[in-house]
Amino acid sequence: MLRLLKTACVGKLSRKIGAQSFSAAALAKPNQNPEVLYTGIFINNEWHKSKSGKTFPTINPATEKTIAEIQEGGKEDIEIAIKAARNAFEMGSPWRRMDASERGELLYCLASLMERDQAYLASLETLDNGKPYTMSYNVDLPMSIKNLRYFAGWADKNHGKTIPMDGPYFNYTRHEPVGVCAQIIPWNFPILMMAWKLGPALATGNTIILKPAEQTSLTALYIAQLVKEAGFPEGVVNVVPGKGPTGAILSNHLDVDKVAFTGSTEVGKLIQQASAQSNLKRVTLELGGKSPNIILADSDMDYAVETSHFGLFFNMGQCCCAGSRTFVEDKIYDEFVERSAERAKKRTVGNPFDSNIEQGPQIDNEQMTKILGLIDTGKKQGAKLVAGGNRYKDMPGYFVEPTVFADVKDDMTIAREEIFGPVQQLIRFKNLDEVIKRANASEYGLAAAVFTKNIDKANYLIQGLRAGTVWVNTYNALAAQSPFGGYKMSGHGRENGEYALQNYTEVKSVIVKVNEKSS
Ligand code: NAD
Ligand code: MG
Repeated sequence: MLRLLKTACVGKLSRKIGAQSFSAAALAKPNQNPEVLYTGIFINNEWHKSKSGKTFPTINPATEKTIAEIQEGGKEDIEIAIKAARNAFEMGSPWRRMDASERGELLYCLASLMERDQAYLASLETLDNGKPYTMSYNVDLPMSIKNLRYFAGWADKNHGKTIPMDGPYFNYTRHEPVGVCAQIIPWNFPILMMAWKLGPALATGNTIILKPAEQTSLTALYIAQLVKEAGFPEGVVNVVPGKGPTGAILSNHLDVDKVAFTGSTEVGKLIQQASAQSNLKRVTLELGGKSPNIILADSDMDYAVETSHFGLFFNMGQCCCAGSRTFVEDKIYDEFVERSAERAKKRTVGNPFDSNIEQGPQIDNEQMTKILGLIDTGKKQGAKLVAGGNRYKDMPGYFVEPTVFADVKDDMTIAREEIFGPVQQLIRFKNLDEVIKRANASEYGLAAAVFTKNIDKANYLIQGLRAGTVWVNTYNALAAQSPFGGYKMSGHGRENGEYALQNYTEVKSVIVKVNEKSS
């Protein structure tokens, strides 16, 4: 098996070793009209139409035009997918009999196939999601590929312990896969969220039914075909496109052992309820945020303004960890406001395939309308609009002006609710104890950042902030090796790093009676 696999991978690849870096200037030319090859339901390494005959459109958010019709997975399709995943998980199946190192080889191969097709996948991602191609190509794809390689390396290293148990016993633990896992992912980083979910689940030997977000199915479906090409046995990875109800069927199902979800806190709650009402399936949740970004007066102003701009506007503000409450120390507040507004006004917005563009459209009309509504509420509640505030009305697509609000107060809606758009809130503070208290006064706890040159102040804030990630003098620094996840209503469980393996591992304690005599 392994020999065959290696031939498959090596024969088809022309690997660009060492080509991965975020700032890598070498940008392969995009294809503004990438051919859409797969729109079906992927089960047992084969393509299927939905049993109901239902489809739904996927739309290019930069033009508002339909790209393709996608097969909508319903109850019957899900039954078939779950059976496929269950069969692939049965004892004696090729997947269960496979050496752990071989699982790693398959993941390495998948990563390399994605690297082979990086320009195509990045083009398809930009077409379906609207994010700038420079980001799809230089951020989403490299991070996803690295993630799969990182977890490929874990496949044969997630081992148990031997334990000095009292009594005449030999006690050891086995780290076993949880079983059939449903993975429900959002639209803001379609390929990356798929990689974050597949990597640890496959490294640890689980089988999967993945449901992409209805806005962005195309890249998940293409990657499903790469899963087959890499040589994964049938039924190990199944991809069922569909909307919320498709996800709800999965999370309510009695034969699903685990759900991993990234998306809104509202749906996260529904998934946890579904688990409680069905079979107490394992649940991990990566939900929303309203992350505080705290700028102290001693920080480098140019750097803090630019990095805070990036921390909010990156990916059109559609980041669960966006720095959407920027707390700025009183002494530098006015200048910080002025410079942040200037920077936002310079942000380049337009065709996401254009390499000079920093910002593309929002994902869909619903999200754009929600964002514009929140901007309106901000104005009505007395926040001072210092940049943007409107939709771009003279062009098609769901484009929103880079928007900055000053004089934002903690109790305003825009300081409490997740906006998930290009809208920055600048809030004034006076001292550290006060800002810790205010930063923590949120139902969320995903991320936080601190900008200062004073290590004592930084350490004090690091300890005080209740968030799963604290960045110091940086923002949005994420990597396969480093855990990511939320406190409070931002979810539970950690993705990335060694911690992510726990989400997909059951611990079996094996106790063997040891005879005290040798015969
Ligand atoms: P959502 O939570 O509704 O969708 C995320 C995924 O969950 C999609 O695949 C969707 O089909 C699925 N889903 C929806 N209802 C479901 C249900 N009842 N059971 C199971 N699965 C279900 O997110 P949205 O409606 O696209 O966006 C709403 C808000 O969520 C955004 O404005 C933003 O605040 C937040 N959001 C957060 C993230 C994140 O990365 N944490 C990503 C997307 C959206
Ligand atoms: Mg929704």
